Amino acid sequence: MRNLEKFIKFLDLIGYREVFVKDESLVEELLERLREKVEDCCRCRLCRTRKHVVFGEGNPNTSLMFIGEAPGEQEDIQGRPFVGRAGHLLTRFLNLFGVSRDSVYITNVVKCRPPQNRNPHADEIRACYPFLEEQIDIIAPKVILCLGAVATRTILNLPERASLSRIRGTVQEFKGIKVISTYHPAYLLRNRRGEQTFQKDLELALRLSGLI
Ligand code: URA
Repeated sequence: MRNLEKFIKFLDLIGYREVFVKDESLVEELLERLREKVEDCCRCRLCRTRKHVVFGEGNPNTSLMFIGEAPGEQEDIQGRPFVGRAGHLLTRFLNLFGVSRDSVYITNVVKCRPPQNRNPHADEIRACYPFLEEQIDIIAPKVILCLGAVATRTILNLPERASLSRIRGTVQEFKGIKVISTYHPAYLLRNRRGEQTFQKDLELALRLSGLI
């Protein structure tokens, strides 16, 4: 205890006025409460066609959070993010760096599948955004990796037509969290030439978050 008091005094001396201690079990409890709210949600039309809400999964105490666009068919069936072909690609790239999928946290901008995998509409994104924001506040990662243009525009509050290519390769910020943007893994399934760039962006995110 005396050592803790000394340490807090030292932090005060060097200018830290507030120290936030991340309580790991509280993080899990808050996320579960949020999950219950999201599972009951019918703030937009997507609740009428979904099979399952896809809240997100992984390590809630991680330093790295991935944000995709919206659940696809497999995700809707299983209630888990990135479990289809794009998800397998993502897992493969993580494993390339010796990082397992369950050491990061993975979620989407919207938590319910848009019919026929169309892009989520602006009003659907707006309706779901408070859930994403609360999820980020609870997890408080060091780094967010946005997968694709929809996640990038949503987190960085960019116009609907803003292109990913102007942002990718830079490090942006959201509420003090570093934000990196890269291609969506589904894009890589169609454009293998993007893989090298994706790998580079992922490596930067893993390094900045201290996972490698
Ligand atoms: N694409 C996404 O953006 N999210 C998923 O969970 C699956 C595919």
